[in-house]
Amino acid sequence: MKIITTISGLRKELLRVRQRGEQIGFVPTMGYFHEGHLSLMRRAVSDNDVTVVSLFVNPLQFGPKEDLSRYPRDLKRDAAMAATTGVDILFAPSVTEMYPEPLATFVEVGKQGDVLCGAFRPGHFKGVATVVLKLLNIVLPGRMYLGQKDAQQVIVIKKMVRDLDLPVKIVVCPTLREADGLAMSSRNIFLSPTERMEARALSSALERARQDILRGETSARKIISKIKKLISVGTSATIEYIEMTDATDLMPVRRISGDVLVALAVRFSRARLIDNTIVRVK
Ligand code: AMP
Repeated sequence: MKIITTISGLRKELLRVRQRGEQIGFVPTMGYFHEGHLSLMRRAVSDNDVTVVSLFVNPLQFGPKEDLSRYPRDLKRDAAMAATTGVDILFAPSVTEMYPEPLATFVEVGKQGDVLCGAFRPGHFKGVATVVLKLLNIVLPGRMYLGQKDAQQVIVIKKMVRDLDLPVKIVVCPTLREADGLAMSSRNIFLSPTERMEARALSSALERARQDILRGETSARKIISKIKKLISVGTSATIEYIEMTDATDLMPVRRISGDVLVALAVRFSRARLIDNTIVRVK
């Protein structure tokens, strides 16, 4: 596996790949890898001739009071983990490599970036979409791999790809979980041992909600208040939001039908965690 830190170096390498007529798969990440990241890499390696993983903690998507400065970083560890999956290139640019001068041009993402996490992290999805568009223009992959864990990110990026006619196919991969159900996240290291135990309540409440919906519950309000109760009784976390939306456009749902997304975000003392489930109602 090659580690490349400059845009020109990566472009030079990938030009040769394209001239050979080979397919490029791309996995954008912020690093501090866990099995969730590795599952995206393995899928990309099996689908494509050459797989590129980017590792870039993008300042543009962090608010002024968020955890940019303490976001976990360990390039040596990440490189060793990525290499085990068969990834060909790890692209790890510096902030000045990606943003040599202040940007004047951004991707505006519209209402799908304003709800759920976007309501609590203003400008977050604009920062995500802008860096993903830059990375797509640098890598020019045929396929890009995203995790269902970040359901809103998937919807925002898919919409950008359609709106701007980007020549890339999005492949969405399932959320990988710890044995007790907690969704894997780079931020889980910030949980205290007690919080780590409590955090099981997030996935178990979502699973209960899924069961209730599949058994015929049609009131979004009832489902949401049950999740709220399970989390507020079972954890010390502050609930940021628990919402039910249409799974394709993120618009709020009252009476449950079709494909619905149940999504939540909570804050523990040092970690903000998100999780979600999509339920398909016949
Ligand atoms: P991040 O480094 O957190 O920005 O995540 C990079 C990519 O990995 C994104 O597409 C995430 O959705 C995906 N990802 C993060 N956690 C998981 C997980 N537990 N299971 C599957 N994919 C994940």
